[in-house]
Amino acid sequence: MVIQEMTEQECRTMLVRMDVARLACARNGQPYVVPIHVYLDGTFLYGYATLGQKIEWMRQNPLVCVEIDERTSHGEWASAVVFGHYEELTRTPEHEGSRKVAERLFQKRPSWWEPASVPVLNQERRTPIVFRIRIGRVTGRRATLPTGA
Ligand SMILES: Cc1cc2nc3c(=O)[nH]c(=O)nc-3n(C[C@H](O)[C@H](O)[C@H](O)COP(=O)(O)OP(=O)(O)OC[C@H]3O[C@@H](n4cnc5c(N)ncnc54)[C@H](O)[C@@H]3O)c2cc1C
Repeated sequence: MVIQEMTEQECRTMLVRMDVARLACARNGQPYVVPIHVYLDGTFLYGYATLGQKIEWMRQNPLVCVEIDERTSHGEWASAVVFGHYEELTRTPEHEGSRKVAERLFQKRPSWWEPASVPVLNQERRTPIVFRIRIGRVTGRRATLPTGA
């Protein structure tokens, strides 16, 4: 197996292609990771959620990390890690343009609202939240099989 660094452009291409990412946040030294859909546009990853633990934690500590990976075989995989900053896009004139961008991106997936909005059985419906993650640093690594292997 040969492992190489990926360029930022390769990471971005993968971020556009990938369906599900892992979003990590932390509060009082305790990390928390959940699967989530994200949508890349420019210097932001956009997302849709409802009010719960991850939103409450990101409000308190906006430093987050997003990871994606794809694996073809034991020796062929790629992963990208994004370090970023959580920003909530509230229903205010200030965020109107950004919310429009987010809503346009969300349409790429059918029933995009379901994983966030469908209430857990026997629990109440929660407030919808549109957010974005301002991308700071992106790193990526790719493993390939040496030619002839
Ligand atoms: C493929 C996929 C795509 C998803 N896409 C989205 C999305 O775009 N937006 C979105 O908001 N959610 C999405 N989800 C659901 C997401 O993973 C969380 O379950 C959900 O957002 C609730 O998170 P919360 O922090 O609000 O949890 P809360 O409802 O506040 O619950 C908190 C507690 O429940 C547990 N918990 C919460 N979620 C999970 C989980 N997934 N697995 C195990 N334990 C859990 C945690 O231990 C935590 O202590 C997706 C899930 C999957 C599998």
